[in-house]
Amino acid sequence: MTGGPMTGGPMTGGPMAGGRGADATGRHETAATGGRPGGGGDTLIENVAIAPVAGPEIAHGHILVRDGRIAAIGAGPGPDVPGAARVDGSGCLATPGLVNTHHHLYQWASQGVAQDATLFEWLTALYRLWAAMDAEVVRGAATAGLGWLALSGCTTTTDHHYIFPKGRGDLLAAEIEAARDLGLRFHPCRGSMDRGVSQGGLPPDEVVETLPEILAATAEAVDAYHDPSPGSMLRVAVAPCSPFSVSAELMTEAAALARDKGVRLHTHLCETLDEEEHCLAQMGCTPVDYMDKLGWLGPDVWVAHAVHLHDRDIERFAATGTGTAHCPSSNGRLGAGIARVSEMLRAGAVVGLGVDGAASSELTTLAGEVRQALLFQRARYGPAALTARQALELGTLGGARCLGREDEIGTLEVGKLADIVLWRVGGFAAAIDDPVCALVFGPPPPVARVLVGGRTVVADGELRTVPHDAAGRAGADAHRRLLRLAADRGVTVAGEVHR
Ligand SMILES: [Zn+2]
Repeated sequence: MTGGPMTGGPMTGGPMAGGRGADATGRHETAATGGRPGGGGDTLIENVAIAPVAGPEIAHGHILVRDGRIAAIGAGPGPDVPGAARVDGSGCLATPGLVNTHHHLYQWASQGVAQDATLFEWLTALYRLWAAMDAEVVRGAATAGLGWLALSGCTTTTDHHYIFPKGRGDLLAAEIEAARDLGLRFHPCRGSMDRGVSQGGLPPDEVVETLPEILAATAEAVDAYHDPSPGSMLRVAVAPCSPFSVSAELMTEAAALARDKGVRLHTHLCETLDEEEHCLAQMGCTPVDYMDKLGWLGPDVWVAHAVHLHDRDIERFAATGTGTAHCPSSNGRLGAGIARVSEMLRAGAVVGLGVDGAASSELTTLAGEVRQALLFQRARYGPAALTARQALELGTLGGARCLGREDEIGTLEVGKLADIVLWRVGGFAAAIDDPVCALVFGPPPPVARVLVGGRTVVADGELRTVPHDAAGRAGADAHRRLLRLAADRGVTVAGEVHR
């Protein structure tokens, strides 16, 4: 962590204590700037505290956005840029946009089920419901899930979609359309499962695909959607679901495919002790040993959870550059345990944050995960385990490193993409002098503005790229549709709530 205490005078002496006044809601912008994509002109954010994550923090400064990137950042008033749209950031803290490294957007449609279950019980209950989903369910769930992320300061997100029931439309295309409409930077991970119950796996056979089907569909998804160009809004990863739902052959072939295409690899790993027991019984080794054998440790791999790592696993993650998506709320919800994040950071491992699917972290926000990560580490290791700034770095630069995009996102620096969040740390939160503390220690503050590549996606707590209220309704409609489709197949969740 290179950021230090705020420079340029105490925060209380600057605009942070000056009340709201003109703010970042857009009242100083021309109407044309509200939903403008990057490249359509300059935007100057002024009177704002800045925690750039890389480099010194600034108590009262400015950020100039040009062509979707950061053109200038510094203390004091900004340069005189004729014609620039001006955003008054009084009472706000600017940080890099948060990067979500693990999610299952479709789960927005199945929240609140199996509330008291272990991971394997929870999966078994929900697979039956998920088997009924179609593209319309995924579209609505993704719209709500992505909107919720944007509203809580996330500018780049992955999604791990691994259930593709036959004849239900193009599920991957549905979520990609939703992300395009929202304007978030999106890294969909084409997931897969080929080891159903009849093959010794956990999922029912009706939700798994065959190996040839998976490889063909995954290659097709990369060819159709992956954009490796600088500033890309869409990159695809290859993502078999987990060691207990996927054959060794699929893991090996998926890695070969991803490396052939130059895309990244993602999967679940070491989430629970049940998984380790399953691996020892079925594969004769621990999950990380198994991954090592299959060629799945490396700088192009990031895994979700990694809760139950042995000491040698942490060393191997650090040595190979294997990344981890730490999902503390989901791990807490399912009683999986607390990942050894502070030990991983000390060892030099790459760690980002993820909200995980909404079925195991109902309505969780990524800013909430920044706080949850801090609290979990301190609960396990003591108050020096993780600082507020280290937690913020997990949610920004750590995530960017998991996705191999640390050269473009994750910090606020000249030349990087203008993925910027303005958090309201004035008002009630102004009683805390350190705005980074106000952001991380407490519940997430309101979001005044979210820019993705310089384009306004959220202003004054409302979505600006899609109708705000409709996005929430889309999630509820997806939930009702999924229940109806499941009921048509004789599946209900009434008995599953407290399982
Ligand atoms: Zn997950």
